[in-house]
Amino acid sequence: MSIELTSITKTYGIQKAVNNISFSAQKGEIVGFLGPNGAGKSTTMKILTGFIQPSKGAVLVSGIDVISNPIEAQKNIGYLPEHNPLYLDMYVREYLQFQGSLYNVERPKINEIVEKVGLTIEAHKKINQLSKGYRQRVGLAAAILHNPEVLILDEPTTGLDPNQLVEIRQLIKELGKDKTVLLSTHIMQEVEAMCDRVIIINKGEIVVNKPISELKTDNEQVIKVTFDYKLEEQFIKRLPNIASYKNTLENNWILTFNTSEDMRPVIFDFAQENGLKILGLNAENKNLENLFRELTQ
Ligand code: ADP
Repeated sequence: MSIELTSITKTYGIQKAVNNISFSAQKGEIVGFLGPNGAGKSTTMKILTGFIQPSKGAVLVSGIDVISNPIEAQKNIGYLPEHNPLYLDMYVREYLQFQGSLYNVERPKINEIVEKVGLTIEAHKKINQLSKGYRQRVGLAAAILHNPEVLILDEPTTGLDPNQLVEIRQLIKELGKDKTVLLSTHIMQEVEAMCDRVIIINKGEIVVNKPISELKTDNEQVIKVTFDYKLEEQFIKRLPNIASYKNTLENNWILTFNTSEDMRPVIFDFAQENGLKILGLNAENKNLENLFRELTQ
């Protein structure tokens, strides 16, 4: 296992920021660490990276005990804190070379990383000239300079505009292929877009630890569809596994299915068989969000 937390508790005064939590993650996994503000995400991440010590419990990263041997463990950890701390007056390449010098990273390796995170064109700019999205790229580049096995990303997409969001998610997925990534967020869709597994933490305790695919299978599916033609209810009723339906506008329907099967191809076939065209189709995983709300309220 790349990450192994066992019975971790962290107490501030009389408050338990995290209470007896355990989880692990292995190479190639992108794990979403989800919870409302104040749930204990940052505290857990700081413990994992060796920046703070837990009150109780054990933490291993790449098999190294983080509590007794933080420096050695940190060689295997890339960390992007919530408020990406960058030297704004430095140039991108200069900053990465400076960070790299702390780990004896050679210049050709830095150039390779600049390219990998999509900073080639911006590399000669000052960090303060960069957009938030590009600053996150610099933070991610700095986090992977020493080729760590584990990447810990604290709210890596907060404050990004929709385009930057898509690009950074894509980059994290790419970087995650040969690493173990733990990323915190308070946004459910973020986890769906990027992660293989979700750990939900609430009031310092883990309430869910499951692969995304398993979460989805317990759920009903809600699909919004627009046909090119007004349909009668009796047609809609013929759709397999249909649990309920609502005709919102002329040709728009909200369809709810009770099945783990992806119903989108079935709707396409249904349209074709009935001589209809689909003008819009949007699958929502309503229950995943409901589940999050239920578990964290
Ligand atoms: P999250 O990252 O999920 O928003 P945190 O881990 O930052 O949550 O915080 C968990 C709880 O611990 C919160 O109630 C927070 O106020 C408390 N906490 C975090 N850090 C400290 C600290 N250094 N001193 C006192 N309380 C803290």
